[in-house]
Amino acid sequence: MATPAKDVTDRRLFDAIGAFLFKHRLDPNPANYLLAYRLCCGPDEDMSREIDEATRDGVRLSQDEADRIRVKYGFQRASGDPDRANAEEAALVEEARDQMERFTRIVQATRDGNQAYGRELNHAADQLSRMTGAESIQALLKLTTTMIDRARTAEERMEQAVTEADSLRVKLASVTEEAQSDALTGLANRRAFQDRHRMLSESNVPMCLALCDIDKFKAINDTHGHAVGDRVLKAVANILSETCGKHLVARYGGEEFAILFSGIPLRAATTMVETAQAELAAKHFKVRNTDVAIGMLTFSAGIVESKTGEKRDRLVQRADALLYRAKQNGRDRVEMEGEGSEAVANDA
Ligand code: GH3
Ligand code: MG
Ligand code: MG
Repeated sequence: MATPAKDVTDRRLFDAIGAFLFKHRLDPNPANYLLAYRLCCGPDEDMSREIDEATRDGVRLSQDEADRIRVKYGFQRASGDPDRANAEEAALVEEARDQMERFTRIVQATRDGNQAYGRELNHAADQLSRMTGAESIQALLKLTTTMIDRARTAEERMEQAVTEADSLRVKLASVTEEAQSDALTGLANRRAFQDRHRMLSESNVPMCLALCDIDKFKAINDTHGHAVGDRVLKAVANILSETCGKHLVARYGGEEFAILFSGIPLRAATTMVETAQAELAAKHFKVRNTDVAIGMLTFSAGIVESKTGEKRDRLVQRADALLYRAKQNGRDRVEMEGEGSEAVANDA
């Protein structure tokens, strides 16, 4: 049984969670409750700081921001394994499963109804063949009315099944999309990158991989705060996706992006990455509310061409080694395979 002291602590925590949700007018649903719970229980200093920043000067925490922070701090995951579906995803899957069951039940009920109806029709036909005159007309009339009713019921059931199936399709699409995208930047996530790589290598499509990492990004967070850092991440993500067009741009980790180029030579892929660098350098970022200049933003990159039958990990490793070299060589540069990187490429 809880001690009185524990009761008081529990009550305070419960009140604090309620007060937070009420203050920001967030729905008291499990996802928001979890965010408030984590905030009130602490200690997650980064998250608390970020919420403080986002709600400075009495600004309410919007549902979008709450969702973003929850996703960012990863505590909506169903387990500690980052590759497992997160809780929202799991809930969606659960809903989709329920819907699938409802759909199956409707289809089964329709099939059972039709079978029973078939038996009744046979029976009625048998009886009719033994009747004559007015009696048979009456029976035929009754049978026809029943047929119309049954057809209507079947039609209603089928309509219901189609509605359920449509909704199921939308849910599955949303689950798939969520599982494949990064919540902050909207880019493909690492899982999507892996899937695309698998698909391309199965079809033997030649690929180039660029790993890009923002230079001295920690300093941006430290100087201007996490919220500004996040906006910078989104801006870099936008530039990369605009510049690299149809190729897959993924957020690979914190401030690291992977671009999987397909069907173009290394030189052309490198030019695209260099264009993105130039676009980024041309931008003058400022802190939104204060107009304080953030200074020039740059990123470093390592880019390699895939070899036939090469494993994904190896490809990433080679690009990463070149990215490391770009950092060593002064940052804000692209290191391309073949330019003195033989040792890297051949190093097993
Ligand atoms: P380098 O040029 O060597 O890459 O230096 P760096 O400062 O960019 O690299 P470092 O690995 O030291 O720091 C990366 C920082 O990125 C630390 C981490 O807090 C920050 N970061 C990672 N993910 C996010 C995010 O989602 N939002 C924000 N605002 N910061 C993030
Ligand atoms: Mg990094
Ligand atoms: Mg960095």
